[in-house]
Amino acid sequence: MKINRFNQRIVLSATMILLTACTVQAPAASMPSASNGEMTATVSALPVDGTAEPVQATAALAAGCTGQLTPAQMEGPYYTPNPPQRTSLIEEGVVGEPILLTGYVWDTACRPIAGAVVDLWQTDGVGVYDNEGYRLRGYTLTDDSGRYTMQTVIPGEYPGRPPHIHVKIQPPGGAVLTSQMYFPNAAANARDRLFDSALILDLQETGDGLIGVMNFVVTP
Ligand code: FE
Repeated sequence: MKINRFNQRIVLSATMILLTACTVQAPAASMPSASNGEMTATVSALPVDGTAEPVQATAALAAGCTGQLTPAQMEGPYYTPNPPQRTSLIEEGVVGEPILLTGYVWDTACRPIAGAVVDLWQTDGVGVYDNEGYRLRGYTLTDDSGRYTMQTVIPGEYPGRPPHIHVKIQPPGGAVLTSQMYFPNAAANARDRLFDSALILDLQETGDGLIGVMNFVVTP
């Protein structure tokens, strides 16, 4: 399976396999656990036309939940309200290296939050936003384990900013966390006044493509 297989329009379904001991349940209420252990997930991506075999990619998820709230960052000027619900932001004409984003949404007691909105917007691979339509904009919901997945592309730089993906996370009935995700080893990170090393995606090159992991801790 070549990485460019991700260029097709696909439907993603995800199943999680816990390969090692993993405790995501709430620890003692006032003492979030220092670590929930290593988790591994298998992600399946099925082309809509059914002509290709499912992609199986495995990524190590998470260094564990510490209960520390994910840092908030500014929304910036390019958010478009009311995006569509999607499993992939890739569509015909979108340029950029494909990447599968995934991770968990936890509360501060490290309990998974199901049904949280994970709303993403970004540039394409050459740093261009679609400010008229919803290209590279869309949201998904976390599953019962608190996990989200979204197929997209690595964004490019644009003047003054390193590659980044904007995100809004809203637990059911909870407040919105607005933040951004960054990429490791981007030279422009060091020149960016918003860059936060706590918001770097964990990139994992698998035999089936690139996976970017980011877990979030939010106030439910
Ligand atoms: Fe931006």
